[in-house]
This record gives sequence, structure tokens and C-alpha cells, in this order.
Amino acid sequence: MELEDIETIAVLGAGNMGHGIAEVAALAGYDVRLRDIKEEFVQSGYEDIEWSLEKLAEKDQITDEEAEAALDSVTPLVDMSEAVGSADVIIEAVPEKMDIKKDVYAEVEEAAPDHAIFATNTSSLSITELSEVSDRPEQFCGMHFFNPPIRMQLVEVIYGGHTADETVETIEALAEDFGKTPVRVRKDSPGFIVNRILVPLMNEACWMLSDDVATVEEIDSTTKYHMGLPMGSFELADMTGIDISYHVLEYMNEVLGDEYEPAPVMVEMVENDELGQKTGKGFYDYEDGDGADVPTDEYSEEVEERLNATLAKEIANLVGDGVAPPEDIDEAVMMGAGFPQGPVKTVDEYGVGQCLDKLESLFEETGAARYEPPEYLEEAVEEGGFYGGDDEEDEGPDFEVIALERIDVDVPEGHNEKQVGHIKIDRPHRMNTISLDVLGELDEALDILEAEEQVRSILITGEGDKAFSAGADVQSMATSADPLSAQELSSEGQATFGRLEETPMPVVAGIDGFCLGGGMELSICTDIRIASERSEFGQPELDLGLLPGWGGTQRLANVIGEGPAKEIIMTAERYDAEEMEDFGFLRDVVSKDDLFDEAYELAADLAQGPPVAQKMTKRAMLKGRDDTEAGLEVESQAFGHLIGTDDVMEGMTAFMGDTEPDFEGQ
Ligand code: NAD
Repeated sequence: MELEDIETIAVLGAGNMGHGIAEVAALAGYDVRLRDIKEEFVQSGYEDIEWSLEKLAEKDQITDEEAEAALDSVTPLVDMSEAVGSADVIIEAVPEKMDIKKDVYAEVEEAAPDHAIFATNTSSLSITELSEVSDRPEQFCGMHFFNPPIRMQLVEVIYGGHTADETVETIEALAEDFGKTPVRVRKDSPGFIVNRILVPLMNEACWMLSDDVATVEEIDSTTKYHMGLPMGSFELADMTGIDISYHVLEYMNEVLGDEYEPAPVMVEMVENDELGQKTGKGFYDYEDGDGADVPTDEYSEEVEERLNATLAKEIANLVGDGVAPPEDIDEAVMMGAGFPQGPVKTVDEYGVGQCLDKLESLFEETGAARYEPPEYLEEAVEEGGFYGGDDEEDEGPDFEVIALERIDVDVPEGHNEKQVGHIKIDRPHRMNTISLDVLGELDEALDILEAEEQVRSILITGEGDKAFSAGADVQSMATSADPLSAQELSSEGQATFGRLEETPMPVVAGIDGFCLGGGMELSICTDIRIASERSEFGQPELDLGLLPGWGGTQRLANVIGEGPAKEIIMTAERYDAEEMEDFGFLRDVVSKDDLFDEAYELAADLAQGPPVAQKMTKRAMLKGRDDTEAGLEVESQAFGHLIGTDDVMEGMTAFMGDTEPDFEGQ
């Protein structure tokens, strides 16, 4: 069965995950049958969907009509044959108990059409074993969503021992059609990719605590502020629920052996029902204490060494066993766990040799199975890293958060070769938000393209299905190992975007989806913009008590005139593509499907123009402006000043809490 053949999707279980998966499928236009064992359970799942759709509409992420249509396409059911009788794909999200799931599959097999694919959302059970309950193990695979499905971009699509390639390909296509990013897990291996990395990492953090190697503060400070992970190890464990990690670990322990023996501290906490935020107490106290208050300055080298060694070991296990290659591991963990950088890259940079040495010495010292170095790690050390250290120079710089390619332009015979340099902002899991890394890589990409004679124009787009760029990545900037002051941050962005504006070649932006805040300021620095109909624009900074700090106060007026620029900045509202075309901001508004071709054609056309005249034109137009430099200086100073005001605190708090800010002017 191919994607085109899928019309009806049955979701079994209307709980936490089931209702979310049903919502995602309904928004993608499928006819959804949501089934639970009791009327009240399925009704409650249906109401959860209704609530969530209303929220999305309130936040303008979908229209009221889309919300209504999605809700209309969900049918809540208790009867199994009605639920699965005409389903093309059946996604199961019932409780994580082998017996329950096996009973469900036996019942489903009776009622489902022969062609239907069975996909289980299990986090830890054996997909092979589950598939054997059905008569169609080759049409059975894992489809592991992350919580909450509506927000999380990653879906792990997992082979069971009997799964046909076609089944995985269809489910991957379905995940993409849901607007998600599938990552293939090539073997039914406990924890799949993301949990296989995260859970042993947390276990090692617990072992360090149990063995008095380090304190909670030292471990979290090191993970959060020195290893560049999004949260402290224990902060994350408390947030996800210690029992959840513990159950996955128990299963790994059972299937894979002693290496995954849970640390005593973890066992104790589960026994005492201290499970993290949800019970009020975990590694931190959320009731009587301040919650997770991670110190910035309690770095411990030992902690960093051990955690990197654990990462290296699990990566070696996954790659060595053929579960996933390095790039898939990095993609999955960045999307599924919000790591700003992939763990394979982190370990490669840290040094795989050092990780191997650490494991060897810990193994010698303690004899504990969890430190036994896997064979594949030795191979990786010989290769100079999991990505193979030696090849890097040949391939040019290794971009992480942008992608750079050159596209040949179709030129008349006998003409010199010409190319369009295509820069893609490549952080779809973070709505292509702009971090310091994006700024750095953008700068580097411009250096490269400007030095290549045959590259005559630049096209900028955003990867994924959601956004050109939804703004500045405030979170990554706040937790970056080397935080800049607000004023520096503003100047840094101004400078990079300024380079784009000054680059001698014509630059075209192909905008699809959100183009907000810093993302919109980036697009202002391109020469010509084309957008898809559904795109949305805006400078929301004033809602936060801030001002656009990456050139928006200066450059927007240059493009559309001061009146409209003031309107957009001061109202902080969203504008649709047609309104932006009326303002003169966009050259064209086209369908989403035509966007890339249209934008590329324009860039290819410009690539055949006269480079020197183009360069001089851009330079003359820039020079002829009023004193932008002075304006930019005022802007970055203002940004630095505003960041410390009460109004910004009020704006941010209101934004997080989804309420209206009450600014006092202080
Ligand atoms: P949940 O307890 O919130 O929901 C399970 C639902 O299944 C309940 O509403 C229950 O009434 C229903 N149910 C029980 N027996 C059923 C049956 N025979 N037919 C249909 N429905 C039945 O659990 P959850 O958190 O949604 O987890 C569901 C699955 O998703 C589990 O396999 C879990 O491991 C997996 N998962 C959970 C998360 C997470 O973070 N919660 C993340 C990824 C995957």
C-alpha cells in the first residue's frame, strides 16, 4: 500500500498519546477513528482534541475552519469492528503492557481489512513479538511519536523482525504527510534511538550520585552549561518522570543485560514514589523547594568525561549493531530531546579516543559491565570519529544548522558555467529559529559562496514544513555556553544580516510558513522575496516589551516605507502573505507547491545578469540610504537597555502564560 491509498486511520487508545496522534492525523486531512474501551474514555480523548484545536486556532496556528474540519473528521468509537473495519492504517497507543497489547492485536486482526498496516506507538516493547500475534507481521512496524505529538516533530519508524521495506516506507511517508520528520530505526532494539541515548545517560548520572562521584548540582551544571545539553540530567528526569526512564531501563536490562542495571538511587526513588515534577518531588523538590535550580558554575571534569563516555558507548552500540547511522542518531536526538547539537557530533568533537580510554579505565577499576567498551568504539577511534575525522577537509566545512548547496543554472550552449548558491536554514525541529550557530554558519556560507566565481546569486529558504524562520532562538541563546550580552547579541545579528545585505550578488528569499521576528529581519536583508500563500509575517518583539534588534527598525522602512514599517513593528501583529505583497514586501505570492521553483527560477535568472553592474547597483543603493549605521547603533543599544526592564519581564511572562501583558513603562 502506498501513501495515496491511505484515507482512514484508526487510533486505538484515546489517552495521552492516542488523542494527540488522532489530532495530528485529522489535521493532515485523514478520516480518523478514535477508539477506547469505554465511552467516557473515548469522549475524554475527543474533548482533549477539541481543546487543543481551539488553542491552536486561538494562537492563529490554524484557522477556525481548519479546527472545525479536523474535529469533524474524528469519530469517537468503542466498537472495535467499527473502528478498524475500514481502516488503512491502525495506530495503536494502548497502555504499555505486553498482555494488553497482545489482546488488542488479536481482536484487531479479526476486524481489520487485509491490506491495513499495523503501527504500534510502544516505547519499549518488542515490536517483533507484538507483530507475531497478528497474521501480517510484514505489515507491522513501530511508529513512535513523542509527547505531545502535536508539538514534537520526531517520529521513529521502526522495523520489527519481519517488517517489509514497503511497510516502513509507507509509514514514513505518512509521518511526513502528518508534517512530522520520520527517522528510521533499522532494528527492533530496546529504547530505539532517542531513549537508547537518553536513558543510559540518565542512569550514569544516577550511578555517579549513588557512588558519591558527584552531586546533583555538579552533574546538572555540567550537562546544562558545559556540555550544551538543553537541561540538566536530573532536571530532565524530573520533567519526564523518573518511572518512565526506569521502565525503559528495566526493559533494556532484561533484554540487553547487566550493562543496563539501574542505579540504586533510581530504584529507590521509584520505590518511594518520588517520580519528579508530577509527584512534587524527584531529584529536586517542587513543593517545598524551588524546583530545578541548576547552578551555572559547578562544572566537574569527571562528570563530563563519564557522560561523554556513556554517550560514545551507546552510539557505538547503535551504529555497530546497524540500528542507525550517525546522522540519523544526531537528527533523532536533536528533534526528540531538543539537544542543540547531535550527540555523535558532540562526542566526535570531544574525542572518541578519550571516551574509549575513560571506559577502559572505569572498567578496569570497577569491573562493572556498563563500562565495558563496545568493539565498534575501537573502530570509530581508528577512523578518527564516528563521522570519520579524515574526510572532513575534502567535503568542506561541516554545516550543522544550515545546509549549503549549489544548483547549476541551465545556460545556453557555450556559456560559462553558472550556479545559484542555495542556503537552507536547517533546524526544522526548532522552526528554523536563528541561534548564534545559525548566524555563524550563515556568515561562513557567505564567505564560501562569495569566493566561488561561478556562483552568481543566492537563494535562501527554510527546511521543513512549518517555517522559513520563526524568529530568534531565545532558548539556545540563553543557555549557550558563552552567553552574550543583549547588546552584543543584537550587534552580532545585525552584522551577519548586514553582510547578507552587502553581499555583491542578488539574494532571493523563498518564504514558506512562519517568517517572524529575527526570521523576518533576515528576509528583509535579501533583495527580492517570494512567499507561499500560507506564509505569515510579523515583528512580535514589542509584545515582549522589546524592539526588533537585528536591523528591523532600520531596514524594514527601507523596503516598504516608514508608514507600513511602523505599523508592522508597533502593532506586533501577524500579516498574511497577500497583505505583505500589498505593502511591497513580496514580489509574488504563489502556492506552496510552486514556491521553490518560482524562487529558484528568479535566482537562476538573476544569476545570468551582469555581476559587476549588480554589485555596483547594490552598493550604490546601500550608500544612498540615510544613516543606517547610526540607526543600527541606537537599535542595538536600545535592545541592550530594554532587556533589563520590568516591561520585558512582563511581556515574557505574559507570552509564556498566554495572557495579555500589562506594560508599565519601566
Ligand atoms: P494512557 O494511559 O494515557 O492511554 C492509554 C489509553 O488506552 C487509555 O485511555 C486506555 O483506556 C486505553 N486502552 C486500554 N485498553 C485499550 C484497548 N484494549 N483498546 C483501546 N484502548 C485501550 O497511555 P499513553 O501515555 O497514551 O501511552 C500509550 C502508548 O504510547 C504506550 O505504549 C506508551 O508506551 C506509548 N508512548 C507514550 C509516551 C508518553 O510520553 N506518554 C510517549 C511515546 C509513546
